[in-house]
Amino acid sequence: MAGAGALVSVVEETGREQRSNSARVARSQAASPDRNVRATRTRSLGTALYSSSSEIALRLISRQRVESLEQLVRERVRAAVAYRERLVQDTNAYRVIFSEGDFLPGLIVDKYNDILSLQVLTQAMDDAEMLRPVVTELLDAFRPRAMVERVDARVRRLEQLSEKQTGLIWEQDAEEQPASHSGEALHPAPGWARPHSERPSSSEPALAPKSMRTEFVMNGVRFIYDALAGQKTGAFLDQREHYAAAAQHARGEALDVFCYQGGFALHLARSCDKVTGVDSPRPALEAAEHNADLNGREIEWIEANAFDLLRDYSDSGQKYDSIVLDPPAFAKSKRELATALRGYKELNLRALKMLRPGGILVTCSCSYHVNAADFMGTVAAAALDSHRIIRVLENRGAAKDHPSVLGIPETSYLKCAILLVS
Ligand code: SAH
Repeated sequence: MAGAGALVSVVEETGREQRSNSARVARSQAASPDRNVRATRTRSLGTALYSSSSEIALRLISRQRVESLEQLVRERVRAAVAYRERLVQDTNAYRVIFSEGDFLPGLIVDKYNDILSLQVLTQAMDDAEMLRPVVTELLDAFRPRAMVERVDARVRRLEQLSEKQTGLIWEQDAEEQPASHSGEALHPAPGWARPHSERPSSSEPALAPKSMRTEFVMNGVRFIYDALAGQKTGAFLDQREHYAAAAQHARGEALDVFCYQGGFALHLARSCDKVTGVDSPRPALEAAEHNADLNGREIEWIEANAFDLLRDYSDSGQKYDSIVLDPPAFAKSKRELATALRGYKELNLRALKMLRPGGILVTCSCSYHVNAADFMGTVAAAALDSHRIIRVLENRGAAKDHPSVLGIPETSYLKCAILLVS
């Protein structure tokens, strides 16, 4: 059997030994040809990255045999950068590499102005040999001030990877002048090629958290980014295009539920008279307030459990003209689907009750396990129960820097509907 994170060739076996469904019979071996097990007949399906612990044992990286993984990875990074140059507008913060969406399964890279944030999600991507060409290409393309690795502890446990902290993996030498185009003046220095135990952790003084802050702009709205704090890779870039669309339709008094650092709220402040944001962790709201100051906006932030607040507000007859619902993923696995749908129904029902006639509901779901039809069906059921009629103004997926690949449903996880409620 192949080792953790190995590059393997995937073959389909056909012939006498095969059972009824040939499409499911795929075997993997270490890529060297002499180790391929001979079946009656085999057909190559391509090359994959193997995980010894994940439910997803194989992630296809090419339909062909891969001669040089390093060269392939370099080409993929360059293609991902070029794709964004073509399609991303009005921002200096966007997703540069979106895992399967950019044919680099297990790797996420986000750019926040002059800081790059990288996240590894598989055994294969956790390998220094794999990351080295990625980092070099990224340095060459962007000449960033720093690069951090954001650790998803849950995913690392699932992949049976060693524990580690979010931390700096590369920093431009403070004494050096701006880098040359080739990136030669940059120091691919601390940590990224060293064993994990030697990597600097976020608690080491050298990391000076303040220097890991930057400011980015999207749709003309300014945000502070703290590379070593916050959720996910730091901001919800997949909502960038929805922020602008929501601001186009929203008006009057607005409520942004699950506001995090104010992504929707700050955009809504452009078109609405009064905006209130709700979230539970205080640090998110403190960051939201900083962002509001940065943009010279007055926004009310409420620290509360959104479910409790919506229940209290809807029971007491509180009304709004525009409401945004952008909850965290309710279904982390298929098993949680029914519970997740109940959660969406409850939230949307409450929001619908609180909207004045002609109001705007921006309702989102980032649960991959809840598909678009189920999600919209749930919102429709909430409309029925609350005796409201909904017209769909926009039905949207993640921003274009999170490419959705037909045939890979995991790449289409975000739903955002903008609805006119009568
Ligand atoms: N709309 C945000 C992203 C929201 S992510 C943006 O565009 O940036 C989901 C948010 O829900 C997180 O900020 C999380 O802190 C918050 N959250 C999770 N459970 C919550 C609860 N029960 N009550 C209030 N906020 C909650």
